[in-house]
Amino acid sequence: MTQAAPETAAARADVPPTRKRVLLAAPRGYCAGVDRAVVAVEKALEHYGAPVYVRKEIVHNRHVVETLAARGAVFVEETDEVPEGARVVFSAHGVSPAVKASAAARNLQSIDATCPLVTKVHKEAVRFAADDFDILLIGHEGHEEVEGTQGEAPEHIQVVNSPAAADDVVVRDPERVVWISQTTLSVDETMETVRRLRERFPHLQDPPSDDICYATQNRQVAVKKLAPACDVVITVGSANSSNSVRLVEVALDAGARSSYRVDKASEIDPAWLDGATTVGLTSGASVPEILVQDVIALLAQHGFEDVEEVRTATEDLMFSLPRELRADLKAAGEQPDRPRPGGRRRLDVQPV
Ligand code: SF4
Repeated sequence: MTQAAPETAAARADVPPTRKRVLLAAPRGYCAGVDRAVVAVEKALEHYGAPVYVRKEIVHNRHVVETLAARGAVFVEETDEVPEGARVVFSAHGVSPAVKASAAARNLQSIDATCPLVTKVHKEAVRFAADDFDILLIGHEGHEEVEGTQGEAPEHIQVVNSPAAADDVVVRDPERVVWISQTTLSVDETMETVRRLRERFPHLQDPPSDDICYATQNRQVAVKKLAPACDVVITVGSANSSNSVRLVEVALDAGARSSYRVDKASEIDPAWLDGATTVGLTSGASVPEILVQDVIALLAQHGFEDVEEVRTATEDLMFSLPRELRADLKAAGEQPDRPRPGGRRRLDVQPV
């Protein structure tokens, strides 16, 4: 899925810049789960026609949501806002069994665009609950993904919001405790939470594989690499995008002198660039590349014309479209497969 990239001179904090420059993180932007969810709504609009209802934001990016809404997607908060029998897409963040049941009760035709890597965490929760573990879900209370995962086994799962919150956890049997996590957290902060939990519960079990997904990890590694050399790091991403907000924090922790998040280029305050020689630039996993290119163009207007990519991994993962949609496209003789940008691998994911 990923491979290490050779170190570039710009990636090293000890190489002094001679001109104003931009260090552009790679990987950045769209991940496989976001790409799949957005294409699912686009294909649904093409195939079934508007309106197509979408429960919650399909991905946490204002530009994406506004673009799809302009094409006929109708975003709702809950399934009871969808007319009986209509078609509804569940967002990439996943839904609880209760949401699926409520959609079924209203005869909604569901297309489940939950990222397969979120589904993997759901299945872990179900399995550990069946084995009667207390499950400590590290994540942000109220985030849609956390609500969906918690809904798989509410009587077994408690959310741990931060390292400090580890001190308040109460479990039934300290020998039967496992932690799992939201997919879009800071790796370092999560490990700190786990360390504090393990101090209290030495028999704490790890999840069978990383829950923080490859895309979140790769974007954090890339921004960590360039941050020490940067006067300012700009992350493109929406305020409700967990992985985008984490990139802002990770950049600061890794040594950037300052770190900001913007939804789009016009939100950049020119004062941020005063006296700066090196600007780092990255984007969250739900951000289309066009928004990054707009920022590059704006930075060029401020004299930051040299752009050097700092690549720490190469991603080639691609998920197949949701099963329900593929079946309908196939039955209609339409091509359910999508073009593969950059020759990315397509996987028929069978989450564990
Ligand atoms: Fe899936 Fe990770 Fe992308 Fe979320 S950030 S949609 S878990 S690949």
